Amino acid sequence: MVAKKLNQPLEPGATLGVLGGGQLGRMFSQAASKMGYKVCVLDPSADSPAAEVSALHVRAEFDDQAGLARLAEQCDAITTEFENVPADSLRFLQTSVPVCPPPEAVEIAQNRNLEKSFFKDHRLPVNTCAQITEAAQIDSAFAKMSGKAVLKTARFGYDGKGQQVCSSAAEAAAAFESFGVQECVLEDFVPFDCEVSVVLARDVYGNIEAFPLVENQHKNGILDLCIVPARVPQTVRQQAADVATKLAESMQYVGVLAVEMFVCDGALSINEIAPRPHNSGHYTMDACNYSQFDQQVRTLAGLPVAKVVQHQPAVMYNLLGDQLLEDNFQWLKLQSIDNAHVHVYGKAEARLGRKMGHVNLLGAETSDLLDKIVGLKN
Ligand code: AMP
Repeated sequence: MVAKKLNQPLEPGATLGVLGGGQLGRMFSQAASKMGYKVCVLDPSADSPAAEVSALHVRAEFDDQAGLARLAEQCDAITTEFENVPADSLRFLQTSVPVCPPPEAVEIAQNRNLEKSFFKDHRLPVNTCAQITEAAQIDSAFAKMSGKAVLKTARFGYDGKGQQVCSSAAEAAAAFESFGVQECVLEDFVPFDCEVSVVLARDVYGNIEAFPLVENQHKNGILDLCIVPARVPQTVRQQAADVATKLAESMQYVGVLAVEMFVCDGALSINEIAPRPHNSGHYTMDACNYSQFDQQVRTLAGLPVAKVVQHQPAVMYNLLGDQLLEDNFQWLKLQSIDNAHVHVYGKAEARLGRKMGHVNLLGAETSDLLDKIVGLKN
């Protein structure tokens, strides 16, 4: 079946569909509404953060054909806000409505082994790794690593879930067992200097615009802080943009793509990709002339990607349920800081590890911003 394409850019008043109703869908919807588009969210839950700010909501599971058909009827173009939507649902939708990103790219991003094979096939930098489908493969795979490795489930891992650092083949075998003997990847442990990500947008005309490189710091496997521009040499910034650009072109990608990488001794290796806006791109909402969500709307609507400029250095930090549940958490304190832009996702319940919002701090000096954050968190 031929995939439906846009004949011309969509004008204000058109309806954009999004699969998934979380915070990324919410910020997409807010950007779309600013540009005069209506949004229809497909999500099974009644209290979806995205549906709360959108004109239309189809309450259905992501593989429910009747629900998908109702979404297609109402939309002029459709995208996704998370990678675990079945690629077949995207294929079904694109028989009648233009869909981006391409279902094949989403399918690759859903499985760490498919990702790594794609990187290798396209000569993109990737760390030593091996696919594990049965316990018998672990000994020889571990022998190829440097003595320390990370076993990860191939699918459905996020925020450090479904992964275990292992110092021996026996530990890796125990982790494989604990994950329920499902397809995994064993990766060499990277003693990285820092983690970075590129968020870029590619439009239907093939133009690519990358946002400035982000330096990412994680805590308990969850993104904690983003520092932009990343504190790495210009050569590393350029290399990272080149790698992400080559990847987007190799996938014939349309939409917003995030590429997470490790920097180790000045060399880059790709960790994983996200076929959608990314938490590490949230700083763009306040620090740049266009946000990653503006670019998502533009690419979906058939508009050219906008040239991006960062006005000021930024540090973004995530507001997790953990902080909001603390007795001394004070919204007022947060809202009283100069140049702190607080974004709240409208989730009904704060839970440990749950992303409830984020704060973009802007200022002339990154070191001052980091000092401010230390003060805020104590
Ligand atoms: P991921 O879910 O793959 O993004 O992994 C979550 C975090 O675990 C990463 O951001 C890194 O901090 C760490 N991590 C993942 N893979 C490796 C690796 N191969 N070597 C070292 N640290 C890793």
